[in-house]
Amino acid sequence: MVFPIVGGLGEEIPLLMLRDGGVNYWHRANKLPMQALTAGRERQSYVCDILIDFVDDKQDTIDEFNAGLEAAGLEYAELMKLHAVYSDAENLRTNTSVIEAFRELRGQGKVRYLSLAQHGKMRYEILHAAIDSGWFDVIQLPLNPLATDEDFEVIRHASDSDIGVMAMKTCAWIAKAGTEPPPDGRLDPGVARASLGTAGLKWVLSQPGVTVAAVWVTTESEVEQALAAVDSLPTRAEQVALGRAVAAAGPVWCRLCGEHCEGVCPVAMPISEIALADVHARAHGSPTPDEVQLLRMAQSCTRCGACARHCPYGVDVPRVLAAAARRGA
Ligand code: SF4
Ligand code: SF4
Repeated sequence: MVFPIVGGLGEEIPLLMLRDGGVNYWHRANKLPMQALTAGRERQSYVCDILIDFVDDKQDTIDEFNAGLEAAGLEYAELMKLHAVYSDAENLRTNTSVIEAFRELRGQGKVRYLSLAQHGKMRYEILHAAIDSGWFDVIQLPLNPLATDEDFEVIRHASDSDIGVMAMKTCAWIAKAGTEPPPDGRLDPGVARASLGTAGLKWVLSQPGVTVAAVWVTTESEVEQALAAVDSLPTRAEQVALGRAVAAAGPVWCRLCGEHCEGVCPVAMPISEIALADVHARAHGSPTPDEVQLLRMAQSCTRCGACARHCPYGVDVPRVLAAAARRGA
């Protein structure tokens, strides 16, 4: 399946600008002012999803989905999206209550497709298992110009299995794509007259197999940058901007694999979880209480450097953790 669309999400955004700019996929529809967004529009002209955060009980899942539909004022949603619900591949294969719930709701005409958004260090094995299961129509993974071979393997696997791929968290990367990026996300005019936000989204949307990008935008400027990314490839100036951003972000952007560094840390620091919490906190402006707890764990880092020596991507982990500790203080 293919969604020829760009998705938009967020709680405090100029949503009507996105609508008028042609966005036609509304993520977490139950949290958005759907009446305003869809007034005068044919139901077939937009796509919605309802998010499910747990998978332990079939009836709870059905109740949650129905409550979401009601809150959104919808008779049906195109997608039920599972949000990072699995701990590992085995958990996905054996915990089928949500799949049964989805099938029941689909039989009632309330939903058509099942989607899985997964981040965190187990995401690759979980997403491969999801693709192999044959249960999912769409998968969603973090994607940005620092993508690894493992990211591309998942995308290829999904694409070969005729499963849609939604990219997410590109904007979080953009927010961190320099040690001190300008507040509006634009690069120094001396570097390139290009928007890093637009360039990053163009890059993501131009990757073979990627069918849609979910963007997190909070300002009019970010909406403009996102809309400018639709249906075009990065310009030469944007390619230069991206190249410089990749160089700047490489040492501070943890790829969240959790594989090489955590096992050698003498204080068992959950490095990838802290890095993810820091990205979220930065992208959203402030950390949640759970994120504060994680960020504060970074204070125990002794700066011995063992983790950094084992990271295959050259991440300066002590520097990343120092920034996280400051954000959680
Ligand atoms: S610091 Fe490196 S090895 Fe550790 S989780 Fe991040 S990318 Fe992976
Ligand atoms: S630098 Fe900090 S996080 Fe890395 S191995 Fe040493 S104590 Fe652990």
